[in-house]
Amino acid sequence: MALNICEFKDIDIEDYDAVVVGSGFAGSVCARELAERGGMRVLIIEKRSHIAGNMYDEYDEAGILVHRYGPHIFHTYDQHVFDYVRRFAGWIGYQHHVLADWYGTYLPVPFNKNSMEIAFGEEKAAHLIQKLIDVFGDERKVTITELREADDPELSEVADFVYKNVFLYYTQKQWGLTPDEVDPSVTARVPVFISRDDRYFQDTYQGMPALGYTALFEEMLSYDGIDICLSTDAASIFDLEFEDASEDAKLAAIKIKGKAFTGPIVYTGPLDELFCGRFGRLPYRTLDFVYETYDEEYKLPCATVNYTVTEDYTRITEFKRLSGQRSDKTTIMKEYSRAYEDPDTQIPYYAILGEENAAHYQRYLSLTSSLDNFHPLGRLAEYRYYNMDKIIELALQLSDELLAEAGKQR
Ligand SMILES: Cc1cc2nc3c(=O)[nH]c(=O)nc-3n(C[C@H](O)[C@H](O)[C@H](O)COP(=O)(O)OP(=O)(O)OC[C@H]3O[C@@H](n4cnc5c(N)ncnc54)[C@H](O)[C@@H]3O)c2cc1C
Repeated sequence: MALNICEFKDIDIEDYDAVVVGSGFAGSVCARELAERGGMRVLIIEKRSHIAGNMYDEYDEAGILVHRYGPHIFHTYDQHVFDYVRRFAGWIGYQHHVLADWYGTYLPVPFNKNSMEIAFGEEKAAHLIQKLIDVFGDERKVTITELREADDPELSEVADFVYKNVFLYYTQKQWGLTPDEVDPSVTARVPVFISRDDRYFQDTYQGMPALGYTALFEEMLSYDGIDICLSTDAASIFDLEFEDASEDAKLAAIKIKGKAFTGPIVYTGPLDELFCGRFGRLPYRTLDFVYETYDEEYKLPCATVNYTVTEDYTRITEFKRLSGQRSDKTTIMKEYSRAYEDPDTQIPYYAILGEENAAHYQRYLSLTSSLDNFHPLGRLAEYRYYNMDKIIELALQLSDELLAEAGKQR
């Protein structure tokens, strides 16, 4: 079966039981679950000209499968989630490796025993490794904050090295901030790994969809009962009704084609955009991607190299190393991070976490709290960073709730 692509002008909204905004994992999993398990008619509204959200991949002019919105590597500890995505695609085993380019020398990331030997020399590294094992135990991940808190000058030296050579400049480029300004939960994602395991992720289940993510989404959404309107912005088709005329008035109804839609609306776009940024835009970082194709089999020693002390791009990814594709050409992608300023021309990638921005987001969220059938879900609608596996888990949970509710009503 193929995707049911339709034009918004041709649909009758009364034909649908549920509306899903966005076709990333958040929206697509909900659409599939509601259609398959609940027998619901689901309308997906997608702003872009394609499905698959940020996981979208396609073949470039050189015939190389490239990711258009940043490299995506699937990893999870949750077997239920992995079994779920395996329903829609064959998978290849893939373990991600990242190296930091340290003035032309490569250090494995996360910084680990092997990185320590390269950075400090074997003898000194052996001493430091033993001390780390004594204090924290072997095969453990510790943050640079924990290293500093150990109150030992040698462990502080390791923390300082990682901070200066792996973390500081990279973080400044990524967030346009000093590390002190970055939310501690982001800092906590940069660990030191007391191990020789050079893999970037240690999750039980890791891999890549054999034919790519777009093919996986095509399989997931090619289902009787799911219709998809591409190149359609929810803001242009939703008619919002409020309880009163004040700025903080709560939503009373969402009308589509002149009728209040009373079935579930799963919304996975940015919440501030839905309300035309009435309290000011939520801040994000956006990314510019620069692709380069070479008549060489490979360009990099592994899939991703982080530029932690030099260059103004943050990292380079070589796609063939992710997909296992064979070709005598290769395509790499450089990532440049900058402030998100224009919703019309830029894509919001990373929410800038922190108390002030969370409060700003909550103000938008409170506008929706009165509307029982409106369900914000996903990295944009919840103004958070989620890995793919987490968002699939949350989408499955929300679907269960919506199906239970629909069951009760029937
Ligand atoms: C650069 C980068 C790299 C990443 N790498 C990884 C990784 O390696 N592994 C991992 O597990 N996770 C990774 N992630 C996280 C992953 O992208 C998210 O977990 C995933 O995208 C969440 O899915 P989603 O459906 O919430 O959002 P999205 O995938 O962004 O989907 C949202 C969809 O909603 C649509 N939309 C937005 N507004 C509207 C509107 N007004 N009307 C209609 N449609 C709209 C968008 O066009 C989009 O298709 C990465 C994220 C980034 C930014």
